[in-house]
Amino acid sequence: MEEIDLKELERANPIIQVAIEWGIKVRGSMGRCFKADRHPDGNEESTLFFNVAKNSFFCKSCADVRGSVIDLICQHQGWERKKAVDWLAHRVEFDQLTQKLYHGKGKKK
Ligand SMILES: [Zn+2]
Repeated sequence: MEEIDLKELERANPIIQVAIEWGIKVRGSMGRCFKADRHPDGNEESTLFFNVAKNSFFCKSCADVRGSVIDLICQHQGWERKKAVDWLAHRVEFDQLTQKLYHGKGKKK
């Protein structure tokens, strides 16, 4: 398994942008929780808080809805962590990561 620099990966994927791409309604730094079944009143206020500085999120109602941008995808999609990491890596098209991972690994022509 390759070691991916997760900090780097998270930095390259701002949480609010990722949330919007997954269809989460975000206004300012708050959004509608994606566990809709736990929030039966569709008109209730936004309970999802995004911390842009930390690139993290949490729902003030759901104890298990919180974490990093990777956790956001895992919880939203029901994916395993590896799949979420892969998705994020593809999202940034490997540009920075590839350079970091493969730089100096001796590319033969
Ligand atoms: Zn919630």
